[in-house]
Amino acid sequence: MNVQPILTTHDITKSFGDIEVIRGVNLAVYPGEAFGLLGANGAGKTTIIGMILGLLLPTTGKISMFGEMLNGSSKHFNRRIGAALETSAFYPYLSGRDNLHVFAKALGGVPAARIEKLIDFVGLGAQAGSRFQTYSTGMKRRLTLACSLITDPDLIFLDEPTIGLDPAGMREVRELIGELISKGKTIFITSHMLHEVEQVCRRVAVLNKGEILAQGLVDELVCQDQTLRIEVADLHSAANYLAGLPDVGQVTKKENYLLIDATLDQAEMISSHLAKIGIYPRRIEPVGSDLEDFFLDLTKDEITKHIQ
Ligand code: ATP
Repeated sequence: MNVQPILTTHDITKSFGDIEVIRGVNLAVYPGEAFGLLGANGAGKTTIIGMILGLLLPTTGKISMFGEMLNGSSKHFNRRIGAALETSAFYPYLSGRDNLHVFAKALGGVPAARIEKLIDFVGLGAQAGSRFQTYSTGMKRRLTLACSLITDPDLIFLDEPTIGLDPAGMREVRELIGELISKGKTIFITSHMLHEVEQVCRRVAVLNKGEILAQGLVDELVCQDQTLRIEVADLHSAANYLAGLPDVGQVTKKENYLLIDATLDQAEMISSHLAKIGIYPRRIEPVGSDLEDFFLDLTKDEITKHIQ
């Protein structure tokens, strides 16, 4: 079955004055997935979300959503889209509950029971009755999340959902995201917290200085760049021999093992090379490269390219 994206950006750019901060961004987000847009501070994540939500117009390019090419505004989808942005503005003197009622009214109204269900879902508990201005960062994040879910939307944008949370709060938010995914929702997360994203998102795009450097399944992206760790008795001979072979990547000798730039499916080839000189590895295993390594490598290369 050919699943169509629920959201696509078609070569969007954004300039402020004569500075182009978003350059030719093509994103595709599929229904029912958690998609992560990763980027350092200032990479352009908020600007992209702003364009998707219709708060900013792209300078060039188009955005399609729910199978429809948008003509500048996604307002008519406002009950199908939820957004928890860092800038969500609440009334400080109203309670969390009353703030949710205010937002619900602005969105066309929902039954009061829906608000109570959300308060329960995000774990606001008894604090739902306290004034917003008394909330901790964690409670504010919970309220923001609840607010994004008022209309039971299909597509939910979470801007840095775990920022400012303690480890327990981060885990709870991850679990809530997991629950939303299990209900068939699509989640678009922006973050620079790569470990968080890795635990939640199925696919990611890496944004650097307004450009997408990579996009794909987390599992596939982090595997592109694998290293094998090989334990052998005669490290010196093995390293010299492997380093001289044209089909073997870079070999680095460590104290008790070798590191080789190679993927797991090259392990057998490396073993058979070593067998030719009578060396039989005790152990060959991939060294886990994670999303953070991938991201840092990618952005470092890009910086080097710019310098050259
Ligand atoms: P952060 O993680 O710090 O929130 P970000 O990835 O969300 O960063 P943006 O806020 O989208 O990045 O900013 C991208 C670039 O666009 C930055 O260089 C920023 O200074 C610039 N920028 C954003 N909004 C405007 C604006 N209204 N006028 C001029 N420049 C802007």
